[in-house]
Amino acid sequence: MHIHSIPMWTGKGNNYAYVVSDSKTKEAVVIDPANPPEVLPVLKEQTDSGKIKLTSIINTHHHHDHAGGNSEILKHYPLPVIGGKDCAHVTNTPAHNSTFTIGDSIKVRALHTPCHTQDSICYFFEDGDERAVFTGDTLFIGGCGRFFEGTPEEMDKALNQILGSLPDDTKVYPGHEYTKGNVKFAIQVSQDDAIKRLHKFAEENKETQGKTTIGDEKEFNVFMRLNDPTIQKATGASEPLQVMAKLREMKNAA
Ligand SMILES: [Zn+2]
Repeated sequence: MHIHSIPMWTGKGNNYAYVVSDSKTKEAVVIDPANPPEVLPVLKEQTDSGKIKLTSIINTHHHHDHAGGNSEILKHYPLPVIGGKDCAHVTNTPAHNSTFTIGDSIKVRALHTPCHTQDSICYFFEDGDERAVFTGDTLFIGGCGRFFEGTPEEMDKALNQILGSLPDDTKVYPGHEYTKGNVKFAIQVSQDDAIKRLHKFAEENKETQGKTTIGDEKEFNVFMRLNDPTIQKATGASEPLQVMAKLREMKNAA
């Protein structure tokens, strides 16, 4: 499995689109190609040179900075659009926990994670020993998305039951480069060794996508540490869902 990141709106939204291809057959998908002027040249180069055979567009949720490029991309690549029900031009909404394949060796599992939007889907990719999860605006490195269409309970389920149950060595590919901002907030909540490690990591890496794992996130992502007494103390709450709600309020106000 080969993963190619395409940064979009750098310095503004700091979004990422991703091209993921099967090494043997070259079959590939593009995830959240939201800004066609930045994505199409990459797709053109890779398809024209035979590096990839694009087979579908995948969206993590309907927001414009994720699914807003579909109509333009479809003019150049008339392909199926796999995504949540509210994504522009969606042709296929996979059921929770259903799987599909890319080429010979990549197996993808769709994970419904409603909260940031009700149509949020994370995609768990597996190719032999390699594992990656594309989390859109549900899980960020050291943080999580805003609860625009959902509740603390839904985000807890998304992060701590669904994503938290993936193998620890699964690499995390979020929809935005928000790590530095998330660190700023995390160090207000805790200064333990895990947060210090996250801080150092963010200082040393301009781009952080694919460089942390679900195992790392369980250690340093404060939204995945709701039972941790340090986090509970910082929020003034002890019940996990109240801790989740309070963390999000504190982060929104930070
Ligand atoms: Zn969003």
